[in-house]
Amino acid sequence: MAAPKLHIPCCMCGKPLPRTKDNIQLLDAEWQRRFPDITGRLCCFGCVSAHHWWCRPHGVYVDGHIPAVDEYTGRPKSHDKNSNDHLGTPGRLAAMVQAHPRVALAQGAEEYLRHRARLRNLPREGKARLNALLDEWDSAKPQPAAHDEHVDLDHWNAMMGDTVRKLASARRKLTKREQEMAQILKAAREAGVPAKVVGAWETQADMVFDQHED
Ligand SMILES: [Zn+2]
Ligand SMILES: [Zn+2]
Repeated sequence: MAAPKLHIPCCMCGKPLPRTKDNIQLLDAEWQRRFPDITGRLCCFGCVSAHHWWCRPHGVYVDGHIPAVDEYTGRPKSHDKNSNDHLGTPGRLAAMVQAHPRVALAQGAEEYLRHRARLRNLPREGKARLNALLDEWDSAKPQPAAHDEHVDLDHWNAMMGDTVRKLASARRKLTKREQEMAQILKAAREAGVPAKVVGAWETQADMVFDQHED
C-alpha cells in the first residue's frame, strides 16, 4: 500500500507544508516561548524568514531566553545569537516527519506514521520505537464516552457473531483445500512426476495460500 500523503500545516501560518521542498524547518523551545500561539514545531521557510529575531538585542540575553541546543550533542550551543541558531537541520517534509516523529504526530502525521510502523523493511529498532510512541499517543487520547443506552447491543453482537462464524468456516475450508493440495503433490511425486515440476506447483500453491494468510 502506498504511503498516505502528508498534509501537515505549518505551525505558524497554517498553510500546508510543501512536500517537495527540502527546506522544512524545525523550531526549538525558544521559538515556542517567543510565539506561544504556534501549534507544533514544523514550520515553513517563509515564516522562519519573516520572523527573524536576536537573542541579545541589547548585549545581554533577553529575559527567559532558552539556550539553543546542539541537536547532535544535546548540549547548549556556546554563543547562540539569533533565530537561525534555534533551528534544527532543515529537510524534506517526509524526512523531517521520520526524524522527528513525536513532533510530527502532534502536528497531524498520525496516519502516515501508522503506515510506516507497518512497513516490512523498517529496521526492527526503529519500528519498536515508533510503535512505542504510537501506543503512548493512543493512551493519551481521550477515552470514548460510556455506551449509549439506546444502542442496540443485541443487534451488533449478533452481526459480529455471524461474521466471526463465517470467517471460521472459511478458514476451515481453506485448511481442507491446503491438505488436499499436499496430498495431490505427494501422489504426483510418488507417481514419478519430475521433482522440478512438482516443486513449481508447490511454490505456486504456497503463494496462493500465503496471500490468504492475512
Ligand atoms: Zn508558515
Ligand atoms: Zn538564543
